[in-house]
Amino acid sequence: MTCNPRYEILFEPMRIGPVTAPNRFYQVPHASGMTNALPRVRAAFREAKAEGGWGVICTGACSIDPSSDDTPLPFATLWDDNDIRAHALMTEAVHRHGALAGVELWHGGASVMNRTSRLPPLSPSGIPWMATHVGFMGNLRPKTMDKADMKEVLRCQAEAARKARTAGFDVVYVYAGMGYLGYEFLLPEYNHRTDEYGGPIENRVRFVREMIEVTRDAVGKDCGVALRVSLEELRGRPGRNQPSEAHELIELLADLPDLFDVKMDSSPTDCSASRFTGEGSHEPVIDFVKSLTKKPVVGVGRFTSPDTMVSQIRRGVLDFIGGARPSIADPFLPAKIREGREAEIRECIGCNICISSWHDGVPVRCTQNPTAGEEWRRGWHPERVERADTPERILIVGGGPAGLECALTLGQRGHEVTLADGSRGFGGRLTFEKTLPGLSAWNRVVDYRLGRLGDISNVSLYPESFLGADEIIDLAPDRVVLATGARWTNMLYSSLEIPVGRLDHAEVFTPDDIAAGRLPQGPTLVFDFDNYYMGGVLTEHLAAQGVPVSYVTPAGQASAWTIMTNELPLVHRALAYRNVPVTTLHLLKSFDGETATLAHLFTGWESRIACRSVLIVGLRLPRSELFEALTERADALAAVGIRSVDRIGDTLAPGAIVHAVHSGHKLAREIGTKVRWQPYRRDTPIVDAVADFDMRTAAE
Ligand code: ADP
Ligand code: SF4
Repeated sequence: MTCNPRYEILFEPMRIGPVTAPNRFYQVPHASGMTNALPRVRAAFREAKAEGGWGVICTGACSIDPSSDDTPLPFATLWDDNDIRAHALMTEAVHRHGALAGVELWHGGASVMNRTSRLPPLSPSGIPWMATHVGFMGNLRPKTMDKADMKEVLRCQAEAARKARTAGFDVVYVYAGMGYLGYEFLLPEYNHRTDEYGGPIENRVRFVREMIEVTRDAVGKDCGVALRVSLEELRGRPGRNQPSEAHELIELLADLPDLFDVKMDSSPTDCSASRFTGEGSHEPVIDFVKSLTKKPVVGVGRFTSPDTMVSQIRRGVLDFIGGARPSIADPFLPAKIREGREAEIRECIGCNICISSWHDGVPVRCTQNPTAGEEWRRGWHPERVERADTPERILIVGGGPAGLECALTLGQRGHEVTLADGSRGFGGRLTFEKTLPGLSAWNRVVDYRLGRLGDISNVSLYPESFLGADEIIDLAPDRVVLATGARWTNMLYSSLEIPVGRLDHAEVFTPDDIAAGRLPQGPTLVFDFDNYYMGGVLTEHLAAQGVPVSYVTPAGQASAWTIMTNELPLVHRALAYRNVPVTTLHLLKSFDGETATLAHLFTGWESRIACRSVLIVGLRLPRSELFEALTERADALAAVGIRSVDRIGDTLAPGAIVHAVHSGHKLAREIGTKVRWQPYRRDTPIVDAVADFDMRTAAE
């Protein structure tokens, strides 16, 4: 197939100063969670995108000096020769496919706590970066930079830029966004200086200008110099000669960098979840930049539709189509557009599980793309799977995310697959969840897999086929895979912070009841100790249906875990907009049909809320009766030649959709192989042999 002529503009080569990108697909800097400790894992993760047609591939934040130390959050470094070698693995891998490699040199300023380096954080005026959420809080207040500190940071930037050039990078960044050092100089809230670096925007921009100048001097004509800058706050601030300070900033720096990489100011707006924000949401903030500079501009917006991308270029909003999440969900997105295979794009669903990986401090995970982060350590390619030596007849029971992914991957391996589900359609939990406020994009998990299954003749789909052990034995496949999901329970929660007991009452509901169309009547209390999205989203759902609803959780926040996915502030806002009272740090003790009795998690003090119904969003347990029935009939299975019964997804261990998809994919790759003791290859940091030798000599 060939490229739709409408999309050919996306494949024009584009200059970035002295270097030329092969096309307009630009993987902007984004966290991988991999750090220099996993250099091969990281190189392979980035290489997959270059192979898939992205024209520029960048690192995530790469610290220029130990005074920018974000531990325990993962970040890269360019501090010494070992770091150069670690990054060179990535640049070589990216260059193999004709793409450019970019490095996001970064100084965190006051927003890093230097927990490992134990140096004082640096800032323009001693103003700390305050985080409302415990995981991101620090107690060390930053030092106000004097001129010597500023000179030192400029020296570090230049030194890191030289190292970047040696490592083979083509594009070198200056970072002035997201609360980090350069950005702190730009914002008057952080910058109270009375010298030539503070005051009007002309002065506040001086430090960033100097960062760009030293970077250019360091890399000469070998690399393009990019400025990454957040514009949301500055856009909201009126300028003196321009509509806003953001306009003035771009005007002042218009000719300096070779590329502007423009973005929003905070993670929840910059990398916003689809639950609250649609594709292209940055446009109203960054749309003016191209009118003030002749340099190319890249921006993001969770772009997955080639029509939207072309529109951004034709309307003069962007020159490069930036992608972080779309490139994780589908490293081959550009190749699919180039080859006229748009229908095969594995579109990002905007769930932000990838961001949660960074907050967890682990290599990136993706709901849509189970191979993300597994390219090197498990050898998983995002588009190719090994054909099975001996195709087998495999029956999968349950067509939710786990079953669908398993069926697709087994089908691609050449097995004869039967996928049966008791429901009218496929999709499992998403059949209901996609109807909840803001979650429709999540159904891309199902749409993508059903779309691809439509192209495969060796996978047969049987909806409305509820199977028991007898039916499975009658079908006598070679192997059985159970993907039968999980059930929500009516278990309560104790002051030991574990699920305990059950609350049995006709007016007690679980999410499964709501999914089945059984709606609570009258004022309803939602008790949430699942802590992810379900409690908050069902509260919104009930409120939208006119049910008076209040929300109670033993956690410190509503939907507390959604801090990991950038959603938490927006969850609270959504509940507030719907006038939902939120009670935190409380347990539900009992309910008599008229009153719910709560207890404070730490004092035990009781309080009461009048309500007619209770919805418990708490513990999920596997739907395991089919597995148990089959296990009991091991002899009958053996007699008809069934070699194995495996479980995947929620019926193995209830989790988020990301876990189910990974579980289904993993089994499909590994089915029939002996489980190895070592489940994946372990990467190691690159350590300089000469330095080791020197240390030994010194010790002797
Ligand atoms: P996961 O997230 O692990 O994929 P889901 O709960 O989304 O799990 O999907 C499980 C699917 O399994 C549901 O669509 C359900 O209808 C189906 N299912 C459960 N038990 C059976 C069964 N015995 N026969 C056929 N389908 C089943
Ligand atoms: Fe998109 Fe979710 Fe994958 Fe992140 S984890 S890239 S948001 S699908």
